[in-house]
Amino acid sequence: MPNVLVLGGTMEASALCRALAEAQIPATLSYMGRVERPRPQPIPVRIGGFGGVPGLVAYLRDHAVSHVVDATHPFAAQMSTNAVRACDETGVPLIALTRPAWQPVPGDTWQRVPDMAGAVAALAGPPRRVMLAIGRLHLAEFAAQPQHHYLLRLVDEPTETPPLPRHTVVVDRGPFSAEADEALMRDHAIDLVVSKNAGGTGSVSKLTAARALGLPVLMIDRPQIPPRRIAHDIPDVLDWLSA
Ligand code: NAP
Repeated sequence: MPNVLVLGGTMEASALCRALAEAQIPATLSYMGRVERPRPQPIPVRIGGFGGVPGLVAYLRDHAVSHVVDATHPFAAQMSTNAVRACDETGVPLIALTRPAWQPVPGDTWQRVPDMAGAVAALAGPPRRVMLAIGRLHLAEFAAQPQHHYLLRLVDEPTETPPLPRHTVVVDRGPFSAEADEALMRDHAIDLVVSKNAGGTGSVSKLTAARALGLPVLMIDRPQIPPRRIAHDIPDVLDWLSA
């Protein structure tokens, strides 16, 4: 019988956990525990970091994990890299469940940047009204461009005031709708959207809304992760587990 470790923190991971529960495949979901009200899960959950590669290696051995499914966010590069290293070291097979990156379609005006620092640099210039849809971890970097008004959409009410002199916080959790995002962008007179290239459907609505409003998007490319086996959907993961 397999004993699967799912690295989660995404809607895709939660959907995979439902599928594993339905298929009665023994599995544990791991997440970082940063979000205040995590969704209830149909399989056992463990919470918090493992302690780098050595900690994950020890976890895999101590819990006799047979397979690892990395269903973390495409920008969780540290966790994903650690998973590759720890699975190499222990010989535990690894698959990543990732969404294909978004690609521009006609009507989109994207400026692509390689990383968060590239996004900050690209914001040099006169004041604008920027929707910063990047989560809360990297907000401080944007203090280097204090001239803009930033609309911040966050999963939880921030515990500390974001270090941006002009900002508005909206607390909301996906999935979002294109209509609601369009209204939000209109209400806040947004003229630029900053987005990570997360892929998937849960947060694509801001791109659809930006297209409808003719707004440019500053798109942050995904971080590099060492080569690993990839699945783009849950049936592929289930096939791999049963192989
Ligand atoms: P990260 O930079 O890749 O990871 C930093 C550290 O957090 C890892 O080294 C690990 O600590 C711990 N960690 C991350 N994911 C974990 C998991 N699923 N289970 C146990 N420990 C985990 O990750 P991040 O970008 O901060 O993201 C953290 C979590 O939020 C991830 O689970 C990710 O799926 C989710 N998330 C991230 C984003 C994003 O844009 N980055 C968006 C939505 C959701 P140790 O080294 O101690 O093991």
